[in-house]
Amino acid sequence: MAIKNLRSLHVCIAIVILTNAVSSLEIITRSQWQAKPPKGRTVIPHQLTHVIIHHTYIPEACFTTNDCIKAMQWIQDFHQNDRQWDDIGYSFAIGGDGKIYEGRGFNVVGAHAPGYNDKSIGIVFIGDYRTILPSPKMLEAAHKLIQYGIFKGNLKWDYILHGHRQVRDTECPGDALYNEIKTWPHFVEIHKR
Ligand SMILES: [Zn+2]
Repeated sequence: MAIKNLRSLHVCIAIVILTNAVSSLEIITRSQWQAKPPKGRTVIPHQLTHVIIHHTYIPEACFTTNDCIKAMQWIQDFHQNDRQWDDIGYSFAIGGDGKIYEGRGFNVVGAHAPGYNDKSIGIVFIGDYRTILPSPKMLEAAHKLIQYGIFKGNLKWDYILHGHRQVRDTECPGDALYNEIKTWPHFVEIHKR
């Protein structure tokens, strides 16, 4: 009985934590940053198993919502027109204003990490994080977004978290940010070669 109660308590605490995360979450939707329509989209019918962390490197960090909106538009234009992808490659972006910007969202196949695009959330921090870290409010926003994904049922509760460099030959998400995410829950070491 005691064990059962303890389990109930844990479930209650988990729900409270998730509810708090969701209640203070601020997502700037595609229409709010005036995204262009995607040229195509493939819906993911299953739960996601992975979270892949990126930095943009370019554009540089943005600190106001206006500048972050411009950064999102620049990335989408680059991905749709230069890279010839359907849409901005990432699922979500985190701005220096501490807000979350909707990219392809939770349930659309991304273009950010080959082999993982149909099973992961690709979260990009806008800016160059080779030598400095995103601000605490940016890091906090990413954690909340992950919790929100679980709360909504899009992301498995026992997801695996990787930095982009673990799944492809790239320095992304930058040394400083990579060292940070190594301390995050669910980070798993893998060897890509
Ligand atoms: Zn990347």
